[in-house]
Amino acid sequence: MIEIADFEEVTRIRMSREVDGKPVYWVAAYLVDGLLVDTGCAHTADELVAALEGRRLDLVVNTHFHEGHVGADRAIMERFGVPVLAHRDSVPRIGLAPELNPYQEYVWGYPQPASVSTLGAQVDTAAYHFEVIETPGHSAGHVALFERAKGDFVAGGGELADGNARAADVQLGADAERDAGDDHVVVGMQANGDVVEGNHAHRREIDKADIADGHEGASCTGRR
Ligand SMILES: [Zn+2]
Repeated sequence: MIEIADFEEVTRIRMSREVDGKPVYWVAAYLVDGLLVDTGCAHTADELVAALEGRRLDLVVNTHFHEGHVGADRAIMERFGVPVLAHRDSVPRIGLAPELNPYQEYVWGYPQPASVSTLGAQVDTAAYHFEVIETPGHSAGHVALFERAKGDFVAGGGELADGNARAADVQLGADAERDAGDDHVVVGMQANGDVVEGNHAHRREIDKADIADGHEGASCTGRR
């Protein structure tokens, strides 16, 4: 099953395997200015491709190689002929069939291996300039995309709440607030589909709450 919602210029696409009419576990992709961040899991690959029909799609970036984030890479490359990019440490993992535990196969399924290309230091769309920030706390080869000039950041798929990545998340939020000023809305997008919007003070409260209760907030923490 798939749900699509717009947050200003960002479209959030939440996806989950459906069992008895209910979602098993949500993962999220984000589409902004022709850039798709992550592609969900294998179980929803066909639904995602269908949802992208008629939308502008120029480029795909995988935040990391886990099966809940690369599941439609191959289908999208074949259908739309657009490049898919990932961190150099994720590229070889996406090119091979992963070894999954039974629960992973049930929830996300086996992604078709895809020949994706290596990310550079930045990703440019028509209107935006995203910095590629290495955030390897959740897994090797994990990145977040950050739009410094606009003050928004796209974590998209970012398991930004664990390990080293948490520090990066807080730093990104702080950078965005400083650059954007008190009036600007900072938008953070998480792997599980949480979209955090708020001005300076609001955002800081969220960061503090996340740290205080050890919030994981991720679609695939606790493994690898
Ligand atoms: Zn993951």
